This record gives sequence, structure tokens and C-alpha cells, in this order.
Amino acid sequence: MPSKTRDDLAQALLKSQNAALVVGAGISYDLKIPLGYRLPMEFGAAHQSLLAKVGLLSAWQAAQSATDPDTRWNLEKIFVDVLVSKFAGSIELQQVLVGWLGQVESMAGVQSDTHAAFAVTWLQRKFKHLITTNWDFLLEWQIDGIYYEAYNDPFAPANYSFASGANCTIQAEHLFFLESLEGEDYFWHPRWDIAANVSDLPNLRRWSRPLWKIHGSPVFLACPKCGGFSHWKFEAELKVNDPCPVHPDERLLPEIVFWGQGLDTAQPEVWQRVKKRLQRSDCIIASGFSGSGSDVYIRRVIEANSNAWVVNPSKGAWDVDKVHFVETTAADLAQLLIERVITI
Ligand SMILES: [Zn+2]
Repeated sequence: MPSKTRDDLAQALLKSQNAALVVGAGISYDLKIPLGYRLPMEFGAAHQSLLAKVGLLSAWQAAQSATDPDTRWNLEKIFVDVLVSKFAGSIELQQVLVGWLGQVESMAGVQSDTHAAFAVTWLQRKFKHLITTNWDFLLEWQIDGIYYEAYNDPFAPANYSFASGANCTIQAEHLFFLESLEGEDYFWHPRWDIAANVSDLPNLRRWSRPLWKIHGSPVFLACPKCGGFSHWKFEAELKVNDPCPVHPDERLLPEIVFWGQGLDTAQPEVWQRVKKRLQRSDCIIASGFSGSGSDVYIRRVIEANSNAWVVNPSKGAWDVDKVHFVETTAADLAQLLIERVITI
């Protein structure tokens, strides 16, 4: 297909009734979230004795000492594949790796207008579905900030102001579900939730809209009986293998999909839900998402949709005969949403 313009993209989104946004690492790159295998290699550098103990040191050393870029990439992949395969069998490795990843400074949220534009477009229902492969909390940070303000007056629309001076509002009924309690009492349920793991699915309410965090996060822990803990912040001093605070006979497990793993094999039930939503969407926009390596299964579903748009600085692995390709950055897509979609 011939390359498309930003204007074509805005019109396609404005015409759609059931659009989905799929975002990946590229949307957070400006905010210093490391790409590729940099994180596991840094983890290895900081934990040499643990690597030796679990039989990973020689694979790490081989990758670390490679000078040719292609060789290094291949050796890093071998190290990471072994790391991931040893993860399930070692509680110590789970505790140390998950704990270390959770402390990476850039994983925590900061204010970001790019992420806010994506979050607001979703909260305004112009995207019905929001799917991220990112471990970081940049989307959640912006959503939480909007809710923090909105709780001051849950009947009023919430406002968000971008650094450029653009303003937008989100209707109160898009943010909250009002449940009548006994007498005159009400409870304001926030309409957003996070779904990362099969144990989260029974907790989804009919009024709630999940942010599909399909690679989980190092911060997430799940109890097999009651679903996710520590969703999006370290709210409790809990770590891998601790007893669940509600079910002391159950142990908390990491909720994370690693490098080289895919949701289709790690969490097939969650993937089926996401896949159905993508297949029903009348417009899919993917940005910052390379679709290569272990993410091929998502790319295939997006490419099979007749109205799929990819917004990336380069075509990468995408089959541009099947998708509309707009050659630009995620930050520019956010700017387009601000100008054309959410502030009108
Ligand atoms: Zn539990």
C-alpha cells in the first residue's frame, strides 16, 4: 500500500466505532526505557555470583565479550533464553531478578504528554481498547493523575492540560461507575483496571475497562486464587513466594512475560480475549511496536485486520502491503491525537 499521511490516519480514527491502540517499547524510548537485551545484560553484570550459582555465568560472559554486533545479539539472545528457562525453577532468581527490575528508575512513572495523549484518547472512548507490551508505568501514571484530580468532584468532567497549552476534558461517566448502596450512599467505581494475567480476568467488572498489560510487569505479583497484587505500584512490601495476604496457603507468583516469551504461549486465555478484541476492531493503530521476534503473533493479527495502521519511524518487520504505514514517531502520533481527536 502507498504510504499514508497523518491526516489520513486522523480521519480513519474519527470515522471508526471500535478502534484499538497497540503500543510497545518505542513509545517509551524517549523516556529512557532500555530496549533490546540491555536490561538482562545489566542484571547479569550486577549479579555475577548469582549467575554462577544458577549456571548462567558463562553464557553471560560469552555475550559480554562479543565485539561484532550480530554475534553479540545472538549470544545475548542465548543468555536471555537460558535466563528465562531457569527463572521458573529458581525462587531465588525470581526474587532477585523481579526485585531488581522493579527498582529500575525509568520503570516508575513520570509526567509524559505523549502517554497522556494515548491515555486520554482511550478514556474518551475514541480508542475502545488499549493494549501495551510495556513493563513501565507511564500510561498508568497519567491515568492515575487524571483520576486523582477527578475524585475532587466525580460529577464534573475531568480536565487535562498539555504542555503545549491544549486542553481536553473527559466526561465523568467515562471515568466512574456509580453504584447505589444502602440508603443514600453511593460508591464511585473507577472504570479503569489492569489485566495482565489469567487470574485478573474474573476480577473484571462489566463497567470496567482493562488496560491490557500483556507482558505484565516486574512489579506485579499474582495469587492463584485472588489475582494480581501490587498492580502498578509497590503498594505493599511483598515479594515473590511470599504468602498471599488473603490466602496464606497460596504463594505469590511473578506476573511477567519475559524477553523471548509471547502472551500466546505464556497466557493463552488472556491472549484469546485480546485477539478477539483486535479481530472485532474496525481500526487498529500500532505504534512503537516492532512486531519482530516473539511479538510476531500480535503483528499477524494486526496485519490481518483490513484497517490497520502502523505509526513507526521505520517499517521494520511490518508487511506494508497489508497495513497503512505512517512514517513518524509515537510522539508525533500523540501530537496528532491532541490536535485532531481529543481536544475538539
Ligand atoms: Zn490470594
